[in-house]
Amino acid sequence: MRILCADVGGTSIKLGMVTGDGEISGLTEVPTEGKKGGARVMENLISGLEAFEGYDAIGISTAGQVDREKGSIIYANDNIPGYTGTKVKDILEKRFKRPVEVENDVNCAALGEGWLGAGKGMTDYLCLTYGTGIGGAIVLGGRLYRGVGGSAGEFGHMILHPGGRECSCGKKGCYEAYASARLLVELAREKDPSVSNGRELFARIAEGDEKMAAALDEWSGEAATGLASLVHIFNPQALILGGGILEQDAAAESLEKNARELIMDSFQNVRFLKAALGNTAGLFGAATLHIK
Ligand SMILES: [Zn+2]
Repeated sequence: MRILCADVGGTSIKLGMVTGDGEISGLTEVPTEGKKGGARVMENLISGLEAFEGYDAIGISTAGQVDREKGSIIYANDNIPGYTGTKVKDILEKRFKRPVEVENDVNCAALGEGWLGAGKGMTDYLCLTYGTGIGGAIVLGGRLYRGVGGSAGEFGHMILHPGGRECSCGKKGCYEAYASARLLVELAREKDPSVSNGRELFARIAEGDEKMAAALDEWSGEAATGLASLVHIFNPQALILGGGILEQDAAAESLEKNARELIMDSFQNVRFLKAALGNTAGLFGAATLHIK
C-alpha cells in the first residue's frame, strides 16, 4: 500500500509518499501561507498533492483541532485564520478520488513515533514537544487517547502556577508559560540580556557560563515538575520528548535528572527518550491512519 501524506504546519506543508513497510520517498515542502487563510492553505495543499501519482490513499496531519470522523477542522488558531470548519476530507476526496484520513499533527507525530520511532513496540507512552508552546499526545494500551473532542493531551495548559505568567491560551500559570523553549531564552535574558537565542545559550553553557547554566536548571526544574505529575498520572513506559531544545544533551540530561528527583520510586522504570523521527514523524503518523 502506498499512502500520500502531508503535514500541514504553520509555515510549511511537508509532503511524502509512505509505503506500508515504512519507506518514505519524494519528500518535499510547499509554503503553507497560513496567514492568508484556510482557503489559501487548501489550495497550497492541493497543488502540493498534485505533484504525486501512484498511491492508494491520502493521509493528512494538520495543525488545529480535528474531527477525526468527519475529517474537518473543529478549531484552528490565528496562525491560519478561517481554517476552522474546513472540510479537509470531503474537499480532498472529491478532488483526488481516494480515501482520505485527517488527524491533528501532534497526534500524528505520536502515532509515527509509535510505529517506527522512539515508541516502537510500546503500548503506553506520552509525547511532549517543547517549542514556542508545548504540544502533547497520549498513547494508552496501544491506542491514541483523543478525548471527547480530540483535544486530549494539552499538557502545555496544565496550570502549575495559579495566577502566574500569562499563557498563549489566555489563562495564567500554564505549564508552557514556564517550560516552553521560548521561556528558556527568556529566563536566560533575565540573567544576562546579551544572550540572543537558544544556540548561543547552549554554546555558553558548554564554555562554563554559570548564569546560563542556572537559567537551564531553572527551566528544567519547571519542565520536570510537569513531567513528574504526568508520570504519576499515566504510569507510562516512556516519555518521548521532542523539539529542538531536547536535541541538546545538556537540556535532556538536566530535565531527566530534575524529573527523576520528583518521581516516586515505584515509577522510576519510566524511560526518557528523544523523539526519533524529527519532522517526518507527522508524515509517518498520517500513513498509520490508513495502515492500522
Ligand atoms: Zn495555557
